[in-house]
Amino acid sequence: MSQIFLFNASFHLFLIQIDQEIATKTREQGCICCGGKLHAADYPRSPVGIPSELRDYFDERLSFCCAVCRHRATPPSVRFFGRRWYPAPFHLLICVLMCGINERRLSQIKRHFGITVNESTWKRWRKWWSNEFEETAFWRKEKGLMPNAGITDTPFPRALLNEFHGTLEKKMQFLLRLLSPLTGGILRAV
Ligand SMILES: [Zn+2]
Repeated sequence: MSQIFLFNASFHLFLIQIDQEIATKTREQGCICCGGKLHAADYPRSPVGIPSELRDYFDERLSFCCAVCRHRATPPSVRFFGRRWYPAPFHLLICVLMCGINERRLSQIKRHFGITVNESTWKRWRKWWSNEFEETAFWRKEKGLMPNAGITDTPFPRALLNEFHGTLEKKMQFLLRLLSPLTGGILRAV
């Protein structure tokens, strides 16, 4: 697997573009509570664990606030996996690559990505993917689209990535887009 795309500006700029498209749709829908107009109210974010030259791509999450009732509307995102400190593409790729936990794998992650993931964080991620993901409203709604992913022995999220074709970069873009409803809106689960 070639993970080099994770360090290319073009990959991250493309993700920003997708997030902006999703956000435009959210804004056009208006406030789900009162129908009021949505104003930009982005969240500053401070991603951890990633190389410093990539932090600018993840320094804010697009979000809105209703001009009338102040209700928050945070659109789904392909860059942020909910409140996790690690940006979505890094979180997912690490989860795809690591089916088990051991010191050697953690040091490989550090060597290949320059990313430090401690064991308790990784265990929390693994627990979520193996126990909680299948119970989310998102997956109950979408699993029919990917019948093979639910029946193999391959753990999530690797089983989802395997459903896509093309380069790892392309597959990751599809996976991030597929999973984005988990990160905002009514199907939010992270
Ligand atoms: Zn409102």
